[in-house]
Amino acid sequence: MTATHAAGRKLKDAIFDANQACNEAIKIHGADKVTNATIGVVLNEEGKISTLPTVEKVFRSMEFSELVSYAPISGLPAYLDAVIDLTFADNKPNAKLAAIATAGGTGAIHHAIANYAERGDAILTHDWRWGTYDIICNETGKRLETFKLFDDDLNFNINDFAVKVDSLLKKQKSLLVIINSPAHNPTGYALSDNEWDKVLDVLKAQVSAGKKISLLVDVAYIDFAGEKNSTRAFMKKFSDLPENFFVMIAFSMSKSFTFYGQRTGALIGVSSSQKFIDEFKDVGKYSNRATWSNINRGAQALLVKLAADEKILPIYEAERNELYQMVKRRADIFVEEAKNCGLRFVPYKAGFFISVPSDNPAAVCQRLRDDLIFAVPLKLGIRVAACSTPHEKMYGVAEKILRAMR
Ligand code: PLP
Repeated sequence: MTATHAAGRKLKDAIFDANQACNEAIKIHGADKVTNATIGVVLNEEGKISTLPTVEKVFRSMEFSELVSYAPISGLPAYLDAVIDLTFADNKPNAKLAAIATAGGTGAIHHAIANYAERGDAILTHDWRWGTYDIICNETGKRLETFKLFDDDLNFNINDFAVKVDSLLKKQKSLLVIINSPAHNPTGYALSDNEWDKVLDVLKAQVSAGKKISLLVDVAYIDFAGEKNSTRAFMKKFSDLPENFFVMIAFSMSKSFTFYGQRTGALIGVSSSQKFIDEFKDVGKYSNRATWSNINRGAQALLVKLAADEKILPIYEAERNELYQMVKRRADIFVEEAKNCGLRFVPYKAGFFISVPSDNPAAVCQRLRDDLIFAVPLKLGIRVAACSTPHEKMYGVAEKILRAMR
């Protein structure tokens, strides 16, 4: 009965499948015997969701009417201002800026794809990627093409990026590029300052040749990437860009506020042109009305309260930093053991996940289950969630992956 374009659509979710298998194993063997390295949520050392006490306290103190009321379609103005301040910290580029509230970072990505790529055109992102990009492209009548994120020596592959940009722009007049950095899902990679310069040079050269370029930077995990301003330093590079180079940043409250299910984020527009910023606000508001109408008011108001309170903000940041340190400690164990046992993994800098390249990820993950370790088989390798694996259980995982691969 579906329309032809929707026929056959079915969500295949490797993460959900792996998590389900893990839960079955827990029922049989008990939670203490099973390692759940599947989930993209920070779990504490007892395997329960980690939350931030200050976020909970402020949320619970809010008026019920604030939680249940509608919000303006574009978002609460104070929320949009606070999102811009938190996203850039001390690294605001010399540019015109605006934000539009969205349903999580996913909603931000959706609007960028819906409004900044022509129907039928290709959008370019890295081969190691979050699979939702593919789904949104399909849903909105676009195609996703990829460049190799790494070369054979696992260095950032600027050459493949430049080749793919060039070949796509031989066929189309404009291009939307998506880059997920820092704390990239699924590898934990982050582009260095120098790599950002090279990426921007490639794109600026295309703009000089008359093409329209949009760049979407997905920073969903930025608060789990390291020190606030150093992880955001690259944002200054979006200063004084040519008019036909539009930058967007997908902001999410899910990880930074442990507010995953409250579905609140924003898409930020960065441009040297006020005209294109006004257009960005108009098309974003239109898309909001067409998709979810408006966004969770309580979550927006919570962020405003936290950001505006000079006493509470540092406490919230310190609590969040503790979670970051907990994830880092687990990842450090994996990285050190992988190096010691000779397991080849994708360069990890920070973030929720670490990836191990493999020709047959499904078989390796299946084999790992013999050791009651559950990881996610992706197209290019195995994803290990440091965010969900208690540090005691992280010991030995690298070696067991190596054994399973052999
Ligand atoms: N981007 C990446 C790479 C992600 O992994 C996620 C969540 O898993 C998001 C964006 C957006 O998350 P949310 O829609 O919960 O804000």
